Amino acid sequence: MIGLISATSAGAAARDRLAAAWPDRTRVYDGPVGDAVRTAFAECEQLVCFLATGAVVRLIAPLLGDKASDPGVVCVDESGRFAVSLVGGHGGGANELAREVGELLGAEPVVTTATDAVGVPGLDTLGFPVEGDVAGVSRAMLDGEPVALKAELAWPLPPLRVGEEGAYAIRLTDRLVEAAEREVVLRPPSLVVGVGASKGAPVDEVLGLIESALGDAGLSRRSIAELATVDAKAEEPGIVAAAQRLGVPLVTHSAEELAQVEVPNPSDAPLAAVGTPSVAEAAALARGGELLVPKRKSERADGQPAMATCAVVRRSARGRLAVVGLGPGARDLVTPRAKAELRRASVLVGLDQYVDQIRDLLRPGTRILESGLGAEEERARTAVEEARKGQAVALIGSGDAGVYAMASPALAEASDDIDVIGVPGVTAALAAAAILGAPLGHDHVSISLSDLHTPWEVIERRVRAAAEADIVVTFYNPRSRGRDWQLPKALAILAEHREPTTPVGVVRNASRPDESSRLTTLAALDPATVDMMTVVTVGNTATRDIAGRMVTPRGYRWQASQEDTK
Ligand code: SAH
Repeated sequence: MIGLISATSAGAAARDRLAAAWPDRTRVYDGPVGDAVRTAFAECEQLVCFLATGAVVRLIAPLLGDKASDPGVVCVDESGRFAVSLVGGHGGGANELAREVGELLGAEPVVTTATDAVGVPGLDTLGFPVEGDVAGVSRAMLDGEPVALKAELAWPLPPLRVGEEGAYAIRLTDRLVEAAEREVVLRPPSLVVGVGASKGAPVDEVLGLIESALGDAGLSRRSIAELATVDAKAEEPGIVAAAQRLGVPLVTHSAEELAQVEVPNPSDAPLAAVGTPSVAEAAALARGGELLVPKRKSERADGQPAMATCAVVRRSARGRLAVVGLGPGARDLVTPRAKAELRRASVLVGLDQYVDQIRDLLRPGTRILESGLGAEEERARTAVEEARKGQAVALIGSGDAGVYAMASPALAEASDDIDVIGVPGVTAALAAAAILGAPLGHDHVSISLSDLHTPWEVIERRVRAAAEADIVVTFYNPRSRGRDWQLPKALAILAEHREPTTPVGVVRNASRPDESSRLTTLAALDPATVDMMTVVTVGNTATRDIAGRMVTPRGYRWQASQEDTK
């Protein structure tokens, strides 16, 4: 819950806007400001104070405890110009909250924690439990001192400023080791604990078993990714409560699925009870991985038969491949999600000219694998190979990365051992349409005139089909130095079914600094004015030039009624 506190009427107005936008996330604290801040501080995970920073500092000073558990506090000034992340920037999420509040109120977020200022992710923001000298190692990374990454397992980390050796170290491990001096230990979510329990097994018995199994094997409970069991035990209170106390999800599998998993210690009891010869081992192994702790049973002080079993598996890291569309060129047409994925990636793969477009958005330490035109297949293969190694990879393309671009060659190479995240981008046809008017108001297709990947007969057949079906057509790759007859030929096919006066929009370098566009007609278009930086959109028989804008009506009825009123 986010507590909202204000003193003045301007503050209250801004507060009410936040409260209206986030009804379920916020609670307004009225009354004397001092009391309101104290109560909210005790009750909420985060506070937004529409008060001067000085006033808030004085009020919260006596309340501050530990930065890991204190609420994050954001201050918004009287005129709503700034949203200041005051305390709890990382642990309390105040930096992120300042950005969100800023976005909502049109205020500038003010973030002063050093790691954010220079683009190094805070070690406590990686989403992994972290132990040891976080402040010291963060400072070393910021100061550019050598920090060694000691990764005991491959895991898709965001970029960190690290090398192979250094006086400071980041150790990535699920083993039960203490952080040494000048070292932090990151706990990847690498362990899956399979659990079985008979009806009514007490939570303490389940938890005690898990803890002793991990402890004896020298594994950290902070690396548990999930508990896993059979569907029939999805509601078993002891298991549900154990997952809750550990703060991890409980994942369940069907008995049929578990019965297929090969395990070292099958037995008859679960087969009779739930229909699979193994619950703990099979559930732990259901998604693959290495069995570190074979099935073991709980021990009961009262000598009664054990009610719980568990087994521990180290799952292999899943690399992450984000296929990111950068939009047509303009920075403000790069989506926030695309930007987030670029910052999330530790390896970036792309065409050199696109890499240049977004280099400043990358975090320091991002490994950049760029190559020139023509190396598409190699780029696709590289991106997938890196992801398979357990890296977080972003593969970039202009416009939408799935439109005549990298997504399909990459996914043709990819297997199901990596996660693939697609981030849509504004494709050239849409960027051009917005410039031209509303040419895509009714059914439309895109056709690439490049016959490098497609035989011309196929392209021609598709152009003809679009012509006959009276569909608006946007031509990508319309013309290059070596390919000059295809566009005239395609336009001639369309002209067999459309008037010479049919509007045609030509947009070059949409949203880039040297953008240009013109509206012409099928008869008047000079193909020599078209190049590879251009898309050409040909209207259907209903498309009109209205006040210099290209408009395709939504339906013929609309068009008829327009004619009626003429
Ligand atoms: N994935 C890209 C398309 C790649 S094919 C996208 O979704 O936009 C390359 C062709 O796209 C170019 O030959 C050109 O026809 C078109 N194109 C890409 N960006 C463009 C832009 N900013 N303005 C005009 N055409 C563009």
